[in-house]
Amino acid sequence: MATTLEGNKKLQTLTAQTYVNEVYQAVEKRNPHESEFLQAVKEIFDSLVPIIAKHPKYAEHNILERIVEPERLITFRVPWVDDQGKVQVNRGFRVQYNSAIGPYKGGLRFHPSVNTSIIKFLGFEQIFKNSLTGQPIGGGKGGSDFDPKGKSDGEIMRFTQSFMTELCKHIGPDVDVPAGDIGVGAREIGYMFGQYKKIRGGYEAGVLTGKGLGYGGSLARTEATGYGTVYFMQEMLKDNGLSFEGSTVVVSGSGNVSIYAIEKAQQLGAKVVACSDSSGYIYDKNGINLNTIKQLKEVESKRISEYVNAHPEAHYYEGCSGIWSIPCDIALPCATQNEIDKTSARMLVSNGVKAVGEGANMPSTLKAIDEFLHNNVLFGPAKAANAGGVAVSALEMAQNSMRLSWTFEEVDHKLQDIMKSIYKNSVNAAEEYGYPGNLVVGANIAGFTKVADTMIAQGVI
Ligand code: GLU
Repeated sequence: MATTLEGNKKLQTLTAQTYVNEVYQAVEKRNPHESEFLQAVKEIFDSLVPIIAKHPKYAEHNILERIVEPERLITFRVPWVDDQGKVQVNRGFRVQYNSAIGPYKGGLRFHPSVNTSIIKFLGFEQIFKNSLTGQPIGGGKGGSDFDPKGKSDGEIMRFTQSFMTELCKHIGPDVDVPAGDIGVGAREIGYMFGQYKKIRGGYEAGVLTGKGLGYGGSLARTEATGYGTVYFMQEMLKDNGLSFEGSTVVVSGSGNVSIYAIEKAQQLGAKVVACSDSSGYIYDKNGINLNTIKQLKEVESKRISEYVNAHPEAHYYEGCSGIWSIPCDIALPCATQNEIDKTSARMLVSNGVKAVGEGANMPSTLKAIDEFLHNNVLFGPAKAANAGGVAVSALEMAQNSMRLSWTFEEVDHKLQDIMKSIYKNSVNAAEEYGYPGNLVVGANIAGFTKVADTMIAQGVI
């Protein structure tokens, strides 16, 4: 009897694997050259095999074929005038990926690397991340190949207004709610909110999140992604008899996610010895002085290399991947996609890293993830570990709907609860589907279930 059951399970797994492979191949064929998008799909699809094997309804309803296709992908021209009076043109994007469980929700990224593949990978991940938060938000993402680096405030405003002039036709508090991501912070959200209001009329506070505190922003939204990543890792470490207290931590990046991951890790007693920007990284064996980083990055918009002027005992190194050669107990990649490849992962492993928590979106390549999992490194995947940002965005939407605002402590407390429950749900799903401790499988399955079941409940959508 046991052997037959075992045999059936194997057969179901094989059939599920075949189904998943077939859908993946079709996705590859329809989206050639979209390498980041295909990478995100592969990671998610492979980890869904156990749930597809156990519940044939997902294959019967063609859920994978549907979920991988965006409900809508909008691309548009963004013309603007630079300080020399010259007309410039950029490309704008918004992917409205999945609205089964709520309005589309996800950030906007302004970076020269932005293209359809990047926006689709981010949007696809966002579906599962947003579902994991337990809040009623669908998946979306957008942005532009506009490069904010070196632009004047006037140029940023004119570009951002032009971007919103088109985007405002497609969004709304119950339709699609953008926020920030790389290159889009409170200033850009402010300009976009002003332009939206000017064109659409009315005061729809809930149309954007990450707003300034004076006009509907939520306390703790700025800190949320970085704090959330550390709260998530804190749970994971605790479960394995470890903690931030006394550990050496490397955090890549020096933007919003990185700065607040450093802040919380330091508050919990960790020594953070390195961080970076797109030019290079600093290593301060005494522990980074976060006030200097905040001054350089949040106030003066300077390069991280300037850190050593204030702290001559620290070292600056050109290039980004070298940061992963610094021995540490915990690594928090908080910069950008694919910043840890197999070689960097191997370096971290051979230096004895115990845990890796992804603050950025998809910072580890598929091979890097394999390297961590095979070497029993505790691994917190992005869509679970960095979900705190969008979770507090959803809290901002809730406050806007109620026309009231919660204190920092209230929001921070809710954030901690959300991160704990994301951790618990991911651990439980991994266990239930036969991959104990594998939070890539656990987070993907836990995020998938709610969206897939809702898609079935809502008919052919
Ligand atoms: N861009 C962030 C993310 O990757 C936040 C999105 C939001 O707040 O809507 O999840």
